[in-house]
Amino acid sequence: MGKDRSAALPGKYQAFYDQISTVLPAERLIVDPLKTLAFGTDASFYRLVPKIVIKSNSETEIVEILSAANAHELAITFRAAGTSLSGQAISDSILLIAGEKWQGHKVLQEGERIRLQPGVLGKYANLYLRPYGRKIGPDPASINAAMIGGIAANNASGMCCGNSQNSYKTLAGMRIIFQNGSLLDTADAKSRNSFYADNDALVKGIENLRDEVRADTVLRERIERKFKIKNTTGYSLNALLDFDDPLDIIAHLMIGSEGTLGFISEITYNTVVEYADKASALIIFKGIEDACRATEILKSQPVEAVELMDRAALRSVEDKAGMPDYLKELSGEAAALLVETRAASRKELRHNIQSVSLALEAIPLERPLNFTDVESEYTKLWNIRKGLFPAVGAVRECGTTVIIEDVAFPMEHLAEATLELQRLMAKYSYDNAIIFGHALAGNLHFVFTQDFGSPQEVERYSGFMDEVCKMVVEKYDGSLKAEHGTGRNMAPYVELEWGQEAYHLMERIKDLFDPQRLLNPGVILNANPQAHLENLKPLTATNPIVDKCIECGFCEPVCPSRNLTLTPRQRITVQREISRLQARGDSSTRYGSIVSAYNYAGDATCATDGLCQTACPVEINTGELTKELRRLKVANTPRETLARIIARNYGLVTAGVRLGLQSVNLLHTVLGTKSLAKIAGGARKLSGDRLPLWTPYMPKGAPKRKKAGTNLGRAKKVVYFPSCISRTMGPAKNDSDQELLSQVLEKLLVRSGYDVLYPPAMEKLCCGVPFNSKGAFRQADEKAAELEQVLLEMSNEGTYPVICDTSPCLYRMRQTMDRRLQLYEPVEFIHDFLLTELNIQQKQEKIAVHTTCSSEKMGLGNKLIDVAKACATEVVVPEKVGCCGFAGDRGFTYPELNTVALEELNHQVADCRAGYSNSRTCEIGLSQHGGIDYNSIVYLVEQCSRESVA
Ligand SMILES: Cc1cc2nc3c(=O)[nH]c(=O)nc-3n(C[C@H](O)[C@H](O)[C@H](O)COP(=O)(O)OP(=O)(O)OC[C@H]3O[C@@H](n4cnc5c(N)ncnc54)[C@H](O)[C@@H]3O)c2cc1C
Ligand code: SF4
Ligand code: SF4
Repeated sequence: MGKDRSAALPGKYQAFYDQISTVLPAERLIVDPLKTLAFGTDASFYRLVPKIVIKSNSETEIVEILSAANAHELAITFRAAGTSLSGQAISDSILLIAGEKWQGHKVLQEGERIRLQPGVLGKYANLYLRPYGRKIGPDPASINAAMIGGIAANNASGMCCGNSQNSYKTLAGMRIIFQNGSLLDTADAKSRNSFYADNDALVKGIENLRDEVRADTVLRERIERKFKIKNTTGYSLNALLDFDDPLDIIAHLMIGSEGTLGFISEITYNTVVEYADKASALIIFKGIEDACRATEILKSQPVEAVELMDRAALRSVEDKAGMPDYLKELSGEAAALLVETRAASRKELRHNIQSVSLALEAIPLERPLNFTDVESEYTKLWNIRKGLFPAVGAVRECGTTVIIEDVAFPMEHLAEATLELQRLMAKYSYDNAIIFGHALAGNLHFVFTQDFGSPQEVERYSGFMDEVCKMVVEKYDGSLKAEHGTGRNMAPYVELEWGQEAYHLMERIKDLFDPQRLLNPGVILNANPQAHLENLKPLTATNPIVDKCIECGFCEPVCPSRNLTLTPRQRITVQREISRLQARGDSSTRYGSIVSAYNYAGDATCATDGLCQTACPVEINTGELTKELRRLKVANTPRETLARIIARNYGLVTAGVRLGLQSVNLLHTVLGTKSLAKIAGGARKLSGDRLPLWTPYMPKGAPKRKKAGTNLGRAKKVVYFPSCISRTMGPAKNDSDQELLSQVLEKLLVRSGYDVLYPPAMEKLCCGVPFNSKGAFRQADEKAAELEQVLLEMSNEGTYPVICDTSPCLYRMRQTMDRRLQLYEPVEFIHDFLLTELNIQQKQEKIAVHTTCSSEKMGLGNKLIDVAKACATEVVVPEKVGCCGFAGDRGFTYPELNTVALEELNHQVADCRAGYSNSRTCEIGLSQHGGIDYNSIVYLVEQCSRESVA
């Protein structure tokens, strides 16, 4: 993207762009309509489209950007993962993303502390600490998607951390870049000294505020009282009381400042203990009052989490799979507490359970109290709680928004306040609203759906919020935001909650840090009383596959194209905008530009692996949307005719592919790797990247095998369907094992006591994956139906198990075929049936494994690791490597997707002897980017079981 793309920028932005493009490369300065919209979205129900999105890589860049923004008086909003709910991570000016290249971390003092850059996902911080039995304190429910910068800047918290383990309480040090470009590292004496010297006005200003607040008894007591419960409304004024040193005050004011005071470039946390032994109980009470009385008692008990759920909340999930039957039979007023206790040993855990049970004896229960320490059982209980927010999201009408509010009350008022909230929701006809929350912290979330499509509906929301805020503040002196941050959503009510004096104090803090008010303006402090009702996000219906999307962003970290083009959320946001523009007959250049840019950014670079569904609370598979859009493109075009011809002549086509691969391999042998790479690369360039990419890991064509079955007369029989991939693609030229996968698997099955049956006329058979991924649905279904018939016959109507050696194919077969068929891919079959039959000799070696997306979706990751561990002493499962992005044959034509998806692979597997997986095409890309040979796990098991007697 060159400068020409910024031609439409308004004057000051153009000048800023010109200045900053001398420092940053154009590809990290985003100004095109598709990406500014896509990157601009966050999880809130507000929409602002930035003029410029900048992907920053370093502190030096941040200083340059801030300085240029200052010079041109332009507002800047920082962005981590964009999972914020209150409208604090969006901008109509400059959006500065600090995620991808801000992943540094260092575990300190045997895990007692951890230093993190702002782009580290919360879940990875905990992964780094796991070996030390520790974790970071803040535990938002969004921790798998949220990043440290956002967690700290929102002072996010969750079920266990309460008020004592949040970022504010566990902060050990921070590096901050201020709006004027100065830098402070609170852990570095030199930096502290120079900061004192160079930032006199800020330091003195903070000292003055500190002294004023301490001298004002009324204000001091107000601040102390407000922070006895969770509070993220306004700034962390408690910093002025809790710390004497102005720099420590500054660092703690940064917590919860939502990007309005400065940029957090590094944070050091004191970590907390992560106990291994856990037990949970879902305790059902006859009403909210009893549940809240129990919460009071539990405060002094050894419990980590106490989650309150009202009757409507329990009802919202009662029909979901895996929920206990009794949920449907509870009385009309019932309420539940989901309680978790943790301990350092089983003995201590038993003691905790006893203590909690005894303590609650005086409170009448609707069902007997039962703790479970069985992981599968307590996971089911927590699934009730985790399913609540999505349950409302999933039943909402198309076009409506799901809103989650976040208030806190002093504990003694929790029951009364919950009932009052229920009454208010009924008064405003929020009929599907539910209440749940972190009871120990007095923190309630109420979730409801809202249409913002008409002035009457906006009015209803406005009236409801006014009443809720009045009730929370005036009646109970509670917090309007307990953990989600003020954002734009609660900014108009900050003064109501805190009072004039404290509000003025917050304004003075802002002016000390950011006198020009350029950092995230409109967030936390906003003079516009209607700010929470403006810039509402349109959620136009676009396709039933994705219409339930709440734009939470949970799917982003698993998407292989996230650092190349778009994420699933961004694909959906863009499709919604396209539909919105189409609905109003827009034919502007902006519309045209978005539609045309989507072809590559949205369509071509979607791997359609569907891994996004595994992270989505409402189970959206954006890959299905991509395939549906491809189907619409293909329908009634010459491409559909071609798909039909290929489907009908499949045997010939696979023979052609085989021949092609054999010829290329011949060239490889004759020309050598270097020359062929040069020639193939040149040819690809000349073709405008239409010719497939050649790499030395390209498979040879697999010679056609006659497969008549083993005919050994054994009782144990298995039908083996080698996929068309393994029928056409053999090992790569330099692979150490040159046998075909189908030969090796057959050997292994025979060794394990099976007779192997092959489907007749196999060359023309296909499960339909290649057709389905290209949108040729009809041909895909026809091929699957044809194969299904053959397999039913061969397996004696499902009596014999069926193996397909390629996991994506097997996944589709399981999705589409007759339930009588017992369908397996090799990992599961080996794990469940062959390991006990074989004499496996474990080798002293280090190997790597890769779980394919389809295996992940079938829950086979652990089985792959188990099988690998049976064969090798050291098994590496690389971190941060999900979908490999090869996507069938897409890796040949869009190799860049494969490259970015596997960025983290090479350094983690470099010292492994080999890698193992269960999809041939994935293995091509894994070998290329891992720098070691990847093959099917079948090869490894076969090698390690040669001593077995069949
Ligand atoms: C379904 C769902 C459940 C959620 N559950 C919880 C929960 O249980 N508890 C909870 O507290 N929150 C929850 N959230 C809200 C949100 O996920 C958290 O607040 C999270 O910590 C935000 O992190 P992020 O990386 O997405 O930050 P972003 O949304 O990108 O940014 C958050 C704020 O931090 C600022 N910021 C980002 N990076 C920096 C930086 N480097 N320096 C300075 N400022 C910066 C931004 O400007 C913004 O104001 C939930 C959200 C969703 C969608
Ligand atoms: S697709 Fe699912 S996970 Fe992704 S943003 Fe939408 S609702 Fe969230
Ligand atoms: S299918 Fe894969 S590439 Fe496509 S949006 Fe989902 S995770 Fe991303």
